[in-house]
Amino acid sequence: MDLGACTERARTGPCFICAFLSGYPDYEHHVIAQDDEHVAFLDRWPTLPGKVLIAPKQHIEHAVRGPH
Ligand SMILES: [Zn+2]
Repeated sequence: MDLGACTERARTGPCFICAFLSGYPDYEHHVIAQDDEHVAFLDRWPTLPGKVLIAPKQHIEHAVRGPH
């Protein structure tokens, strides 16, 4: 895995969650549950069996980083 290329793609490429939610074919994921504001789906490259990702449907950046 090329970490530099991966980081660059994550910073400049399309947001994979937005692409997945708009139905872009290369970004399909298996949806487990969803409501109006959130979606839970299986990780396509899970590090553990059954790993689930949960995301807000609204595009939010730096959600993990705290406020400055
Ligand atoms: Zn997004």
